[in-house]
Amino acid sequence: MSNLTFAIIKPDAVKNNYVGQIITMITEAGFKVKAMKMTRMSQDSAKGFYEVHKERPFYGELVDFMCSGPCVPLMLEKENAVADFRKLIGATDPAQADEGTIRKRYAGSKAENAVHGSDSDENALIEIAHFFSRDERLNNYTN
Ligand code: ADP
Ligand code: MG
Repeated sequence: MSNLTFAIIKPDAVKNNYVGQIITMITEAGFKVKAMKMTRMSQDSAKGFYEVHKERPFYGELVDFMCSGPCVPLMLEKENAVADFRKLIGATDPAQADEGTIRKRYAGSKAENAVHGSDSDENALIEIAHFFSRDERLNNYTN
């Protein structure tokens, strides 16, 4: 059982200047930030990341949205990280999300919903590797 999960502060939340408030909610909930950066996804990267949704009607819109501006991927550590993070972000549709969740506070719609969170330990590791090199995962930087 891994204690890691993977999150993205999505382009809508970056554009709306919520990065600081969202990271504060994450750390106050007991998560430790193990890796983080600001990046803009390419079409290929977003298509690969959301491959499981490629048959869904919103796939194209989702890929375009995720590439529309910078986002902030995060590797997070906490006991029971995957389930606890899903609880912290709330339902996919902010209208259905519980009070006090990140999506309830900061998401504007079901499509542009402020944050991503992994849905399993297995996917967390795949998603972490999608965004962070081995050196970035190990905080092993060189200049
Ligand atoms: P979650 O991010 O809560 O795990 P899903 O895995 O079902 O939700 O969907 C991935 C992402 O696709 C969502 O976070 C959202 O950005 C987008 N999405 C999901 N459902 C819809 C929809 N019906 N219309 C538009 N975008 C959607
Ligand atoms: Mg999902």
